[in-house]
Amino acid sequence: MELLPQVNCGACGFPGCAGFTNGILEGKVNTLGLCKPGSRGEGLVDLREYLKNNPGPDGVAIDLPVK
Ligand code: SF4
Repeated sequence: MELLPQVNCGACGFPGCAGFTNGILEGKVNTLGLCKPGSRGEGLVDLREYLKNNPGPDGVAIDLPVK
């Protein structure tokens, strides 16, 4: 997902930003704050808003904290 930093550092515990994106969509992520590079700017706030306004694969909007 292009709203993530694209650093692919793995700090979130997933294999790169694509893995983190899959984890979000699969319900395996409880906070966007796992992305430490993203926590430094406003990127996670934008991602949070995007997820809230664009339902996931099951048709339910995803609302995750950024902290
Ligand atoms: S911590 Fe953030 S930048 Fe690093 S791999 Fe995970 S989603 Fe990508």
